[in-house]
Order: sequence, then C-alpha cells, then structure tokens
Amino acid sequence: MKLLTSAHDKISSGGRLTVDEILALYEENDLLYLAESARRVKERKTGRKVFYTVNRHINLTNVCSANCSLCAFSCQSGDNHAFTLELADVEQAVRCQVSGVSEIHIVSALHPTKDFAYYVDAVKLVKKFLPHVGINAFTPVEIVNFANISGKSFADVLRELIDAGVTSLAGGGAEILSDRVREIICPKKCSAVEWLEVMRTAHKLGLRTNASMMFGHVETIRERVEHLIKLRDLQDETGGFVAMMLFPFHPENTRLGEQFKLQRVGSWEDLKMLALARLALDNFDHFKAFWVMLTLPVAQLALSFGADDLDGTLGEEKIIHAAGAKSSAGITVDKLRKIISETAYLPVERDSFYREV
Ligand code: SF4
Repeated sequence: MKLLTSAHDKISSGGRLTVDEILALYEENDLLYLAESARRVKERKTGRKVFYTVNRHINLTNVCSANCSLCAFSCQSGDNHAFTLELADVEQAVRCQVSGVSEIHIVSALHPTKDFAYYVDAVKLVKKFLPHVGINAFTPVEIVNFANISGKSFADVLRELIDAGVTSLAGGGAEILSDRVREIICPKKCSAVEWLEVMRTAHKLGLRTNASMMFGHVETIRERVEHLIKLRDLQDETGGFVAMMLFPFHPENTRLGEQFKLQRVGSWEDLKMLALARLALDNFDHFKAFWVMLTLPVAQLALSFGADDLDGTLGEEKIIHAAGAKSSAGITVDKLRKIISETAYLPVERDSFYREV
C-alpha cells in the first residue's frame, strides 16, 4: 500500500518511479488511472499533436544464422520462402518508391554468408537514389553481427554505416534485456549488455536510435520493468533515444509459442504496458503505437494511453506478418490521418527525428 501511495504521489508531482512502484501500479491494474496519467504525460510532452510518417520497409533477407525460437520471419537458405535481395533488387525497390517518402527502414535477418560490404552497399544505393530521405537501418543485433563478420569494433561498423548514409538506428532486437530470457528465446542473438553497448556507442557518435521491448512470452513482470529501467538509465546517460515502441509477442508460427503454448496477450495488457512504460520512461519524448502489431483499432485507443505516434505507412511489412499479424501490410496517409483526427488529436507528418514535414 505504501508503494502504491508513493507511486500515485510521484505521478501527481512528476517524480521518478522506482521498479517496485511500477510493479505496484501493475498489480493495482487500474487501467483508466494509468491511461489518464500517461495521457497527461503525453500531452505535456507533445500537446495535441499525434505523429505519423510516410515510410517504406525494406528487408534485405530472411535467411538467418541465429534461428531464434521467437521468430516466424527467418528461414534457412534453400527453404521455399527464403529470399535475399541482390543489390540490383535493392536499386529496383528504391527506384519505384513513391514521392513523399521521408524514411526508409531497413532491417533484416543475419545472413550466414553475406559480408558487411553488402549491407554498406545496400545503404549507399538507397542514399544514391533517395538522397533526402532518412535511412533508419539495422538493429543492435545486426550491428553486433556486422562487427563479428568484419572483425571491426562497434564504433567502426557504425562510422562506416553513417558514412554510407544511415541517419538513425532501428530500435528492435531488444526483446527483454535479461540474459535469462534471451537464453530461452534468442540464445544466438547479442546479449543484453551488447545491445545496450551498441546503443551507447551509436549515441556517442551522434547517431540517434529508437528503443523497444517485446513482451508477453517467458519473461516475468519484474523483468519487463527492469528492462524499462535499463533504457531509462541509458537515456539519462546519452539522451540518444528518439522514441520507444512496445511489441506484444505474436506466438503464431513460432517454435517459442509452440513450446510454451503461448497465446498473444490481450489488448488490456497491450494498453496497460504502454501506459506504464510512458510513466516509467520519463526521459523519452515519443511513444509509438505500432499499428501493425496492435491492429488499427487498438493503436487508435493507444493514443489515450500515452502514445503520440502511429508510426508509418510502411508499404510492405513482412516480419510481424510472418508471425500472424492480421493487420494490412501498409496503409494510406489519408487513413492514418483519419484515425488520428477521430480522437480529436492533430495529425502531424514527421521525419525520423520528429521534425514536422
Ligand atoms: S529474430 Fe532476428 S536474429 Fe533471430 S532468427 Fe529472426 S531474423 Fe534471425
């Protein structure tokens, strides 16, 4: 009770919540209180604005050496749905982008034979044909892989990517920043310490990044909260995170889902975790409600739970759809604007850094 009282007091006065206070709020389970509190924080940070972006996703390959049990996207080379874009394919993909795109988002699997130069050249091609477009590319998981296959340090890998045209780093692959959890869901991926170290290095080089959490699988609630605090601590240190995104785990078509008989968490949990994360991460300005993960109706509701961004139009999303997402693979600007307007918030188109377009 004492923890809950101090948590409520801090929310009223703007104080910083501890791990135990966040856990007490989780246990209290008062969804409308969390919504109202998170919405107030959102409006203090970004007023009546809700952001969206006109972006496109490019996945260079789904052939992966990591074989994580959480993943429905990856496969082995030779599988009938395996694909790997050659540079000519990347050129074709960027040549036919519609005008008005302000961000290209590139994330991929860890291909067992492609070298680091392949990824650098892919970025250079995007930069050559879309010189004014932001390139939000590669998660820390991929950066660690590039360091391993090239023998370079994280800093050298990041410098080369910045020179090629990368303007910000993707925030994925964090899952839950606990080695116990990672040992179960993705043992061959980078460790929690490595994920944070890549982000720290990127921020020190002036490369801003997003952050994420994937929840609703084998983690404890305390591990979720500790994950948030690790992000908050790094943000205190560097200030380099732009936005936070929460991903509920989609168990369909995954070995992890099958092994632990997992079901996707419900919308209550989606919205509760979003609001709690907004309250816990007092040093993050932006929270995305990623409509592909949440579905459009829940993403719209998320705007009353602390989110200030519906992310983008996407074009063709592959990774989450491989895990059974039922949302469409892309959306029009008109539809995104309509969804925002219905909430009485103001739709605002943004670039990767939340500058108004
Ligand atoms: S989650 Fe990423 S690293 Fe793991 S198997 Fe899938 S694509 Fe590969």
